[in-house]
Formats: sequence, structure tokens, C-alpha cells
Amino acid sequence: MTKSLYIKTYGCQMNVYDSARMADVLAPLGFVPVEVPDEADMVILNTCHIREKAAEKVYSELGRLRRLKQARSHGGADMILAVAGCVAQAEGAEIARRAPYVDMVFGPQAYHRLPEMVARAGRAGGAVLDTDFPPEAKFDHLPAGSGQGVNAFLTVQEGCDKFCTFCVVPYTRGAEFSRPVADVLAEARHLADAGAREVMLLGQNVNAYHGLVEGKEDWGLGDLIRGVAAVDGIERVRYTTSYPAEVDAALIAAHREVPELMPFLHLPVQSGSDRVLAAMNRRHTADQYRRLADRLRQARPDLALASDFIVGFPGESDTDFQATLDLVTDVGFAQAYSFKYSPRPGTPAPMMDAQVPEPVKSQRLATLQDLLAEQQRHFNDTCVGLTLTVLLDRPGRHPGQLVGRSPYMQAVHVDAAAAEVGAIVEVRIDAALANSLGGTVVGSPDGGRAAPGDGTRQVA
Ligand code: SAM
Repeated sequence: MTKSLYIKTYGCQMNVYDSARMADVLAPLGFVPVEVPDEADMVILNTCHIREKAAEKVYSELGRLRRLKQARSHGGADMILAVAGCVAQAEGAEIARRAPYVDMVFGPQAYHRLPEMVARAGRAGGAVLDTDFPPEAKFDHLPAGSGQGVNAFLTVQEGCDKFCTFCVVPYTRGAEFSRPVADVLAEARHLADAGAREVMLLGQNVNAYHGLVEGKEDWGLGDLIRGVAAVDGIERVRYTTSYPAEVDAALIAAHREVPELMPFLHLPVQSGSDRVLAAMNRRHTADQYRRLADRLRQARPDLALASDFIVGFPGESDTDFQATLDLVTDVGFAQAYSFKYSPRPGTPAPMMDAQVPEPVKSQRLATLQDLLAEQQRHFNDTCVGLTLTVLLDRPGRHPGQLVGRSPYMQAVHVDAAAAEVGAIVEVRIDAALANSLGGTVVGSPDGGRAAPGDGTRQVA
């Protein structure tokens, strides 16, 4: 009998990947994904704990779902309500206390055991709680999956050993773990067979990847990128998120030598002040980051950089904040995410002296975001008139329109027939907006392959 499954995903790409894998695990039990929770037999909130707001959103969504669940059970058909992901990992008992109507709470390392949990939820008189870090690797127990379309996520690394003083990841995702090379390549081949042309390699610290080949040889991320790029059908490779101090010469060489590796790199820096970077335990200085950006751009001159920033970290002075603005001006970013520092339980930073008042954080965030938006707009403007290769991956808002990604990760809108989803086309860029580009298809749908990341763009 088919049953409907609704998964709501919060947070990072790794959660998007995990949600797809949860659907794969539940498929043999007859669960079929649906787009709205209203009629669903099972609802999973796959949560994010990185900032306080992200966690609070989960509790308000649970309030809404409680009413839905009550209405459903009055009609005779119960709904299984589950909380997964990092909030579940960090606050399992708190969820059971605040939302006793939740049936299952499980962390990111436990979802391969979903069938067993579903069976237990049917029998149990309280929430099924599974937030262990089990010794067996979850990946060994996941089914192959049904593919994810033309661009697919592939988790190659999990966890973090860096212990940035602001960050919950080492506590919610555990220690760094790399999947063996053979498993990653097998999954890449499977994704390609299911239609993927672009693969995004994922990890909390993806460039800390060290995967074993036949239990012996140790591949870093640079080697893995070459391996995945060589898989038949994979024409574009990306990776995220990276830790600056783990970028090695082999990874830089991959940017120079592997044409399938797209010229876009998300490399979080967090702050431009050495004092703040040290207090964050980031293990690199602002100038080391500047030099790294230079080396990467020497290897791949059209490389577009993206980053993450935190403003208002404890002790951040006006001078420290100015150093962040200076770094942004010096490096130049094509895209960025910026956040107010959010104290996270269990991490060291909330106990530090000189917490920055909320209005100061807000003001700094607005100033930084203005500068970053100006840089993104400038970057997009410099693309007008260029011809870029675009992988068309979804319908646009208007009939007859498709949207794809440029090599530099911009969304590109073009007029094209729906059948061309999945094609890599040459697009002349006619217009730039704050967050996207518009263009005209000038090269016919490839049918085979267009030159990946053709490097027509040079960054000044
Ligand atoms: N691997 C990345 C790195 O280099 O640290 C971490 C990615 S993290 C999942 C996403 C971003 O969330 C971080 O880069 C950081 O900017 C932001 N973030 C993490 N903890 C935060 C906190 N307590 N307050 C505000 N922003 C935070």
C-alpha cells in the first residue's frame, strides 16, 4: 500500500542530501514523497541547529503540525511526526518535553534505521529517540537511491574536528569522517546513470576529505575531484563547504587542471580581523586567506569566490569590523552569506566577555551586506555580453522559460523548451540582476557535451 511522505528541509545542502536519502530508505516501505504536509502519512522535519533562529523555526512548525496531526487522527488515519537532523541531535530530550506529540526524534547519523524506527513508533507509547553516534557507518546501510535529477548532491565527508568557538557542528555531526573512495565513485556512477550531469561533493569540511582506496592509498579532495570528473556522464563537479586552512596544493592544482571542476569556490572566512579569527579558533589569519585567494586565482584566473561572514562575534570592536570590510574589498566576492553571531548552547563563545549588543550587530550586518550586495551586482554586471555554458535544470516562472546555473553558480534565465531541461547550452548573457542573469541560447542543446567551464570570463 502506498503511503505519503512529506519532508521539510532546513539549513545546508547536506540536509538536502540527507532528506533525499531518507526518502530512499522509506521507499521500500511504500512511502512516496508529496509536496504538502496536509494529507501526509508521515512528516519529517529535517532540522538545522546552526543559529538560534533556525532551531526556533522548528518549534513553531511543530505547533502547526500538531493541529494537522490532531485533525488527521480524528479522521481515523494517524500521521507519524518525526524530527530529524541537528536540532534533534542537540535537543532530543527537549523536543520530547516541548512537543510530546512528536513520534520520532533522530539525529543525522541514524536515518538508515528509519524502517526500524517506523515499526517501533507504531508500537511505542512515547517518542522513539535515536541520537546515538553509531559506530557502524550509516552510508553502508543506505540503499542506492533513485537519483536526484540533472544536478545532484553527494556527501563525501561528514563531521568536523575544527571546533570553531561559535559552531555547533562538531557536537551535532560528530568527528570528521570520510567515505571510502570506491563508495563515492560508485554513488557518482549511480547518479550519472540516473541522469546527473553535475555533482556537488558535500561535507561540513569537504576539503578535509581523506578517503581510502582499497584500505591503503589515501586520496585527498583534489584526487577525488579527478575521480568523479572521470565518471561517464558527469560533466561538472563542484564542492562545498571548505575550510581555508585545509586547502592544499593538490586541490589548487585540480582547479588549474580539471576542466569539469567549475570555477566557483565557497570558502568561508568569517572575519577579516586576526584577533577575532584567533578568538574563533579559525587557524588562519586574514592575510593567509588573502594569499590563498591569490593562489587559487593564479591557478584558475576566472575563479569566482563566495564566503561566509559572522558579525558581532564576542569582543569584535569597530576596528575589527573595519578589518572585515577591508578584507571584502581586497578579495572581492561574487556571492556571500553573512550572519549576526548567534550564541549556541554548548559552544565556548557564549561565555566570552564583551558580547556585542544586538543593535550594533544589526548595524554591522547591514553595512557588510550592502558592500557584499554591491560586489555581487558588480560581478553579475561583468558577465553581460559574455557567452557562458549553462546547465538547464528546472522550469522558470513563466511558460517557455527555463533556469540553469552558470559555471559561477549564478541562476540564468533563458527562453527554451521544457524538453531541454538537462541540456548544457551556450548562453549569451544579456542582462544582470542582483541575484541572477538573463540570456539568450546561442548554442544548440548539446546532446553530448559542451566545453565545461570554458573560462571565457576573466576576473580583473
Ligand atoms: N565549513 C564551514 C567553515 O568554514 O566554518 C562551516 C559552514 S556552517 C555549516 C555555515 C555558516 O554558518 C558558517 O560558515 C558561519 O558563517 C555560520 N555560523 C555557524 N555558526 C554560527 C553562529 N553561532 N552564529 C552565526 N553564524 C554561524
